[in-house]
Amino acid sequence: MDETQFKDLIKESPFQESPVTPTMLAGDKEIQFRCHRDVKCWNACCANIDIQLTPYDILRLKNRLESSSGDFLKQYTVPFEMDKDGMPGVKLRPVQNGTACQFMTPEGCGVYEDRPTACRYYPVALLSMRNQDESTDRTSYALVQEAHCLGHQEPRSLTIDDYRKEQGVDEYDEKGRGWRQLVLKRKSAGPGIGRPPELSNQLFFMASYDIDRFRAFVASESFNNTYDVPMEAMAVLLADDEALMDFGYNFLKHVLFNERFLEERNGAYEARMERLKVKAEQVRDEYLANRDKLEDDKYSDTPRAGDCACGDKE
Ligand code: SF4
Ligand code: SF4
Repeated sequence: MDETQFKDLIKESPFQESPVTPTMLAGDKEIQFRCHRDVKCWNACCANIDIQLTPYDILRLKNRLESSSGDFLKQYTVPFEMDKDGMPGVKLRPVQNGTACQFMTPEGCGVYEDRPTACRYYPVALLSMRNQDESTDRTSYALVQEAHCLGHQEPRSLTIDDYRKEQGVDEYDEKGRGWRQLVLKRKSAGPGIGRPPELSNQLFFMASYDIDRFRAFVASESFNNTYDVPMEAMAVLLADDEALMDFGYNFLKHVLFNERFLEERNGAYEARMERLKVKAEQVRDEYLANRDKLEDDKYSDTPRAGDCACGDKE
């Protein structure tokens, strides 16, 4: 990867506004860093946030807060577009009229055990990349050195791999891998003709972030009339958030990239085509009815024979 490609990658990382050391680092690279309660800059990083969330981050946080995914998204996140094709992403929503994280407390992070991936990684940035001719992503790291963060002056050296272990990042990386690959696949698919249909972005949002709504979708009659998921597998999906999240990644690949993962029921394709045909006829009828009405309205303003525009007739 040359320097220009690396800079492009940095622009897409969660640390795009930050001074990232312009070097790709391997996991065995030593860094000097320590964060603890007595640093002068305590909480400075959480006072001005720009934190992108992964599906697993949301799952952990909403379960900790005993909230539904829909309520969590409303209260704690803001949507944004991850690319020019409108791929939906979500970020942590700061406090009202401010820039601080809603979970920040004087003692530090109020959701520490379930803090998001980006918070765990900081001040390291995870860079996943994939060339168009590659089937798997490659991982490397960069260091974020912001002036306000005094942790870089603390006398402790450790490798990035050891820092990741200390911060419990492995589990988050493992659970988010399928989703990261999906995002990379969408990004590396190259420019399409215009934006993808809105429905595919809505599906992406639901299966990625709104897991409770996705569960209802998977349990719905229309889903089960279309896809043949064995009863035992369905029971696991409906009871286990993480299994459902993994299923969501594969479902999106099935729908967005035609990577066969689910069996369609016999006749499901024909039934879908029939529904589309009925819908198309409805749309056409509505259009024709509206067009006739518009024509009527247009002519109703036009003076007709017998009308007199100038008052009394002689
Ligand atoms: S979730 Fe915790 S660590 Fe992350 S920005 Fe908020 S307070 Fe800071
Ligand atoms: S040392 Fe860095 S990571 Fe730790 S509180 Fe200060 S700004 Fe945040």
